[in-house]
Amino acid sequence: MTKTISLLGSTGSIGRQTLQVTQELGLRVAALTANTQVDMMERQVRQFHPALAVMMDQEAADELRRRISDLPVAVLSGPEGLLTAATLDEADTVVTAVVGSVGLRPTLAAIEKGKRIALANKETLVCAGELVMDAADRCGARIVPVDSEHSAIFQSLQGCRDRSEIKRLILTCSGGPFFGKSHDELENIRPFDALKHPNWSMGAKITIDSATLMNKGLEIIEAMRLYRLPVEQVDAVIHRQSIVHSLVEFRDGAMIAQLGTPDMKLPIRYAFTWPNRAASPDTPLDLLSCGALTFHAPDLDAFPCLRIARQCAKTGGTACAIMNAANEEAVMAFLRGELGFNDIPRQVERALSALAVKYTPSLEDILEADRMARQVVRNR
Ligand code: MG
Repeated sequence: MTKTISLLGSTGSIGRQTLQVTQELGLRVAALTANTQVDMMERQVRQFHPALAVMMDQEAADELRRRISDLPVAVLSGPEGLLTAATLDEADTVVTAVVGSVGLRPTLAAIEKGKRIALANKETLVCAGELVMDAADRCGARIVPVDSEHSAIFQSLQGCRDRSEIKRLILTCSGGPFFGKSHDELENIRPFDALKHPNWSMGAKITIDSATLMNKGLEIIEAMRLYRLPVEQVDAVIHRQSIVHSLVEFRDGAMIAQLGTPDMKLPIRYAFTWPNRAASPDTPLDLLSCGALTFHAPDLDAFPCLRIARQCAKTGGTACAIMNAANEEAVMAFLRGELGFNDIPRQVERALSALAVKYTPSLEDILEADRMARQVVRNR
């Protein structure tokens, strides 16, 4: 079980919930990192007493250093700081709750150190899944997923000794705020509408990804990498209630699922306590009041991101890295009001047709594909 964590991305939604669980379980915090939110970082440092605090933004780091000069806490900045936080000797577990492909290098560095990875940064596995999983095998690092669907699958697979018994992984998907709308109806969606998620409270990037269903596309790829299965063995179904968090279908026809209230603290807690379970102060699911559970096929015409993701998964190489980076850029442009909702998949497809895929890529090839895909979207 985890004793001391480094938390990459402490001021985001997952980061804040991770600190709640940390407190509840009595874990120590060795390092905290954030982008620009100095106020919240200062409060977290004063409460959790890490040895290291990192702000990605240089000015924010200077400001934090001034504010906490009364404390014995080192303050670093930028990607180097993030890397230092990921590799601190004191931490046995690194929580990767940063958004986007910026999580890739620090995750790999923590794996090289043999740490437990509580993985909340899906982009790492999407862009460089094979490199990351190979490194984890080589270094004996355990990757425990924090993403609710992948945690559900991880939990459903406890006791499965032979992976060839798995017939299918079935990821559930809330369908987002625009379930049932047609492609044409989605054309004039504004960021304000897309930021209203029916069940989960999350950061802006993942909320938009949930609205386009790109989140589920990324999660299909994440699941393939984690469990080393071809895309044909990973499905997604729409489940509006977000009670069944995902399922595994075995070759004898048995399906094992994990159910619960939509609360990220459960997968976070399990990532720390695995292979054991700890008592939770939260209210558990009440089967008698949760209502009917429904399942639907996703609409691939209205939500082409899901189809694009499956295609990239099939293509392999740097295709997923190109898709992921183009999507990140397009989502940011949508949030700034510069692109329409349906332009997000259009820009992703533009980047995919503009750039050549490299097969069996190195880390450098992946980072280069990421940079080039961002360029294509920026130069639209
Ligand atoms: Mg998820």
